[in-house]
Amino acid sequence: MQILSGLTLNEIENLTAKLGASKFRARQIHNWIYLKSVKEIDEMTDLSKKFRDELKTIAKISEIKLKVKQVSTDGTIKYLLEFPDGECVETVLMRFDNRANLTACVSSQVGCAVNCSFCATGKRGFIRNLTYKEIIEQVLMIQRDTGLKVTNVVFMGQGEPLLNLDNVLKAMEIFNKDFQIGARRLTISTSGIIPKINELANINMQSTLALSLHAPNHEIRSKIMQIENKYPMDKLHTALKNYTDKTGRRITIEYLLIKDLNDTAESAKQLAHYLYDIKCNINLIPYNPTEKNDYQRPSNNSIMKFKYLIEHAGKKVTVRLERGADIDAACGQLRGKVN
Ligand code: SAH
Ligand code: SF4
Repeated sequence: MQILSGLTLNEIENLTAKLGASKFRARQIHNWIYLKSVKEIDEMTDLSKKFRDELKTIAKISEIKLKVKQVSTDGTIKYLLEFPDGECVETVLMRFDNRANLTACVSSQVGCAVNCSFCATGKRGFIRNLTYKEIIEQVLMIQRDTGLKVTNVVFMGQGEPLLNLDNVLKAMEIFNKDFQIGARRLTISTSGIIPKINELANINMQSTLALSLHAPNHEIRSKIMQIENKYPMDKLHTALKNYTDKTGRRITIEYLLIKDLNDTAESAKQLAHYLYDIKCNINLIPYNPTEKNDYQRPSNNSIMKFKYLIEHAGKKVTVRLERGADIDAACGQLRGKVN
């Protein structure tokens, strides 16, 4: 059985050729998969009943199971998907006030080896990489479920995308060519795998790179992110500078704000200093409490104060809107609960 989700137009053409059908049929099927995202071959209504029946003997749309779906009061939807081998990942759909934008937050691995202290995914360890097909299936699942077209994709679900870069780049190419999502509407978030950041600089990636920095100095970062010992902030700085110089693109800096740990005025000043020559937007993320540690979210007052201090140093800052707080839509949380 061929699984249609994840096939390129070329591959679908090979399939229709087997059934003695034209390339035009392949184009129709391709549209039904990526743009209209039907659930059943029988919904491909511009194909004859006879052709659909033939197609059904050799192909099906997907073999991914939707295991759990949670809808937040703010419209965020969180899905837990199961692959044929029984492994699960989560995918989140965020709708912002401007309804035209539908952002899918996808996973790139089952579990994660980086093991950051604040992250529920990391606590489970690394299980396996996702294939590019399993990555794009997450977006297809959202489109099939909602009947809507995803407009933006961020790699901010489970896993470290730069440790599965081949599959991530192939998935990005399909998002771009087959889903027709603009390169600038795709974002990869990384904990800071320096050699891979250099690789992205060399291929002149047109999509957005987000870096999970989360700390203003080596001491604090090594406390919360083990990866700091392997790829420390001073070397990271060189890689970030090289990336922005080579691509001409602005990096998004993600900074998790944790009460009394990295949210002080001193931290804000050090952060601004560290980033002073890096072309970037800073995204402050108030910590979303998980069960397995005792970090706390700072008060709104200290978040605003931190924001003010960075802005004052001439940097662009936004505070990430909390999405789906009532359904545990932060990194790794759903899978943590189900298992
Ligand atoms: N591994 C990549 C991408 C997945 S994590 C990375 O770390 O960048 C996506 C984002 O969610 C990261 O910025 C991560 O730090 C953040 N995150 C993890 N746990 C969180 C929590 N409990 N509250 C808020 N954000 C969290
Ligand atoms: Fe992995 Fe990102 Fe979670 Fe760190 S924050 S453990 S890199 S998924």
